[in-house]
Amino acid sequence: MPRVTVENRAATVSGAWDFEVELRSDPATTEARTAVLDKPGFGQAFTDHMVLASWTSDLGWHDQKVTAYAPLRVSPAAAVLHYAQEIFEGLKVFRHEDGSVWAFRPEVNAARFSRSAQRLALPEVPQEDFVAALRALVTVDEVWVPPAGSGETSLYLRPYMIATEAALSVRPAREVLFGVIASPAGPYFNTGPKPVSIWLSTTSIRATPGGTGAAKCGGNYAASLAALAEAVANGCDQVVYLDAVERRWIEESGSMNVFFVYSDGRIVTPELSGSILEGVTRASVLELAEDLGHKVEERRISADEWRDGVRSGDITEAFASGTAAVITPIGRLAWAEGDLTIGDHSVDHGVGPVTASLRASLLDLQYGRVPDPRGWLTRLA
Ligand SMILES: *Cc1c(COP(=O)(O)O)cnc(C)c1O
Repeated sequence: MPRVTVENRAATVSGAWDFEVELRSDPATTEARTAVLDKPGFGQAFTDHMVLASWTSDLGWHDQKVTAYAPLRVSPAAAVLHYAQEIFEGLKVFRHEDGSVWAFRPEVNAARFSRSAQRLALPEVPQEDFVAALRALVTVDEVWVPPAGSGETSLYLRPYMIATEAALSVRPAREVLFGVIASPAGPYFNTGPKPVSIWLSTTSIRATPGGTGAAKCGGNYAASLAALAEAVANGCDQVVYLDAVERRWIEESGSMNVFFVYSDGRIVTPELSGSILEGVTRASVLELAEDLGHKVEERRISADEWRDGVRSGDITEAFASGTAAVITPIGRLAWAEGDLTIGDHSVDHGVGPVTASLRASLLDLQYGRVPDPRGWLTRLA
């Protein structure tokens, strides 16, 4: 991979926001970094630097910088710690064969971050500055992007925003911090995608009409953990939630959107109801599925249609989509009174052919192995 000196890389950082670059004096040694890149895991190890930017109601955004990755100092009275005024994003960057580094649809994450900010009464980050922040960090920490040809590896970026104002009154905070951290990510499944089992929760609800389900905020995740524990206690890996009103319609999993493949090749995913998180992977799968000749439907689908379809053979595959695991086959559905196996588990470790081909087309695009006619990739380094 092309090597650039740290000084050169620092000098190339640009964007509408002006990032001051404070390079750390004690970056990880080559050995330590190589050890991480050889076996990255997910969300365990972080790169040498991070992005920070401050916002106050008086000054707006200021103090944008790339600085040493380190613990934050926040007041114990910071609003985020008490009232969960927080949002985040997650996206991956990929190294291509020629050494270049690309983000997948970062402008879509930027737009979603703005919508999440509005819902949580946080200030918006201008969308080009959001992308500039990602570029600033990736430019400085480029050596942390796993090499091309090392399998499904990437650098996972985690932008976030927290209310830092020390004030216990309940109102939108007047002091806020925006940050980006980066973590090398290995293949989510070490030995190829493995079907997960899903617990259909009939007691917990993830999101309600008018609630925060369509925003990517930490509170949604906090509220999902008890149901996840229930799923694990019932031998499952993930939860799928039903709608809050009729408790009948499939919404999504705690961190992934869901899809169903029918025997005639149709692909169905729950329509965005206002309480479903609009996944970048979901939107991309819908377009790629059409390229592959599938008819796609965004509509309501009930838990009964899922169960009946699996029993009759009308539904042949199910999968979940999200940045971290890309596309995850769903092999089993369980609920309080029963369970069902989905698809033909004798084929290719239980990964159905449609799931496998969608997964391959998305990965081929992300790693630059096929043309990118829609311009979904943005070069960062
Ligand atoms: C992040 C997330 C997803 C997946 O979104 P991607 O943009 O595809 O990563 C799905 N559901 C929920 C609840 C999420 O938070």
